[in-house]
Amino acid sequence: MSRDTCLFCKIAAGDIPATKVHEDDDVVAFRDLHPQAPVHVLVIPKRHVASVTGLGADDAALLGKLMLAAGAIAEREGIAGSGYRVVTNTGAHGGQTVFHLHLHLLGGRPMAWPPG
Ligand code: AMP
Ligand code: ZN
Repeated sequence: MSRDTCLFCKIAAGDIPATKVHEDDDVVAFRDLHPQAPVHVLVIPKRHVASVTGLGADDAALLGKLMLAAGAIAEREGIAGSGYRVVTNTGAHGGQTVFHLHLHLLGGRPMAWPPG
């Protein structure tokens, strides 16, 4: 999927509405349209990156920013104490459906392990 047609690039740019819970120079986070838990937030880089596959050393700082944002949002959403899951689905077997890198931040209920 190219940047021109990418759903999450459009959300990051504000061209498609989403309930944003965080935005800074590099990162946007918004509520998942089909939440799988009481708190289900997607944390994405503003820059188009397809998935974990193909990440390079230049992306290390960006990945750190995504994870720091997830932790800060978890605090604000009130789930840091009870715990939460941060996961990124990658490729077909990983269940990825939107090919713009995103962290799922899930919490507010106990998470099953292993996932289905
Ligand atoms: P994945 O299957 O890991 O690629 O996750 C994609 C996620 O994007 C799913 O959990 C969808 O519910 C979510 N999603 C799809 N379209 C939208 C949208 N327009 N706004 C918010 N979340 C969306
Ligand atoms: Zn994109």
